[in-house]
Amino acid sequence: MQRSWIESANSAETHFPLQNLPYGAFVPPGDDLPRCCIAIGDFLFDAHEAEFDGLLDIDGLPIAILGNWNTLMAHGPRIWAAFRARLTELFSEGAPEQEAVRKHLHPLSDAQLAMPLDVRGYTDFYAGKHHATNVGTMFRGAENALPPNWLSIPIGYNGRASSVVVSGTPVRRPWGQLKAPDAELPVFAPCKRLDFELEMGAVVGQPSEGMVSVGKADEMIFGYVLLNDWSARDIQAWEYQPLGPFQSKATATTISPWIVPKAALEPFRVPTPDRERALLPYLEEPGPMLYDIQLEATLAPEGKAPTVITRTNYREMYYSAAQQLAHHTTSGCPMEVGDLLGSGTISGPERGNRGSLLELSWGGKEPLTLDAGEARSFLEDGDTLTLTGWAQGEGYRIGFGQCSGTVLAAHTDPTDAGG
Ligand code: CA
Repeated sequence: MQRSWIESANSAETHFPLQNLPYGAFVPPGDDLPRCCIAIGDFLFDAHEAEFDGLLDIDGLPIAILGNWNTLMAHGPRIWAAFRARLTELFSEGAPEQEAVRKHLHPLSDAQLAMPLDVRGYTDFYAGKHHATNVGTMFRGAENALPPNWLSIPIGYNGRASSVVVSGTPVRRPWGQLKAPDAELPVFAPCKRLDFELEMGAVVGQPSEGMVSVGKADEMIFGYVLLNDWSARDIQAWEYQPLGPFQSKATATTISPWIVPKAALEPFRVPTPDRERALLPYLEEPGPMLYDIQLEATLAPEGKAPTVITRTNYREMYYSAAQQLAHHTTSGCPMEVGDLLGSGTISGPERGNRGSLLELSWGGKEPLTLDAGEARSFLEDGDTLTLTGWAQGEGYRIGFGQCSGTVLAAHTDPTDAGG
């Protein structure tokens, strides 16, 4: 396997070997403006400065000089491949540019990371069958668990791009309308059932005009991130019929700071599961479109060590991101560079593989016990929820880093949120 002259990139445990080279952004100390960077071993590579130094010239195109990767994405798959090949060259053992590259390396450990892309639109799907079955069983009973359309359509809703935030951003507990099942009328109060959802996000790197096939949709995907779709379950339960979630999902969506390029995940492609109902031809996949990515979530109460509360895998999805994207275009809806598609919660078949607290605590009826002894049905103020994930190769990992957020107490007066 190709090795790097950056020794930490050759470790079997690093998330960022030479074979990954994910796209991020950081804010340099004493500066306000984020810059594009690449993760390699224990370092970030300042791609913005390196481009000014002439190290990253691809056909004279601007690529990393703005604060996010939308510019590169807009250039399309040929330039994505050429840019990645150039990065691989610069970091490979024996690269003649070592000294020039070294000037732009900074320790990752103390970097302030920023949003790696300008999110243009955010759509969240509901494409994990274990999750849809668990939630449906709790809300509608086992016999009606899956909605009638579920085996035909990768169902989703249009979410908010404005509240997609990078890992490390605190999440304020929202207020909302809550109605207890036995109450006649709702009250307006802070959410009591704040939850996470373990998902993957697909980053759309090419625009569409009209409908695209699943194969074409796969080509349009630039890369993947970890995604936590924070969910206010009590607000959701009262508001969701008939138009789906609205305020319950609008508070925040956290993504990992690194967009792992689709090219780095190629060796880990796996097929979607056998279809239980034949799909309409426009949703058929020309090849394997899911990925074998191990995922886990930890929960750490304030000042306490984290406990792993679930382990699952992206291959548990029923629909792939390419199918979701193809379906998204059937209406003629134009997709844009920087659109983000949430996979839907990724639960596996067993209790220990459930991707949300709603499922792990079975609606609050079976609280979890954390390693430090605390019980949790839903998130409490001060809790830190962290997702991590990686594809395991032979002696290396393609990692996503961490996707983390800490819950802040609700404001005492919701109209005085201070911005
Ligand atoms: Ca979701």
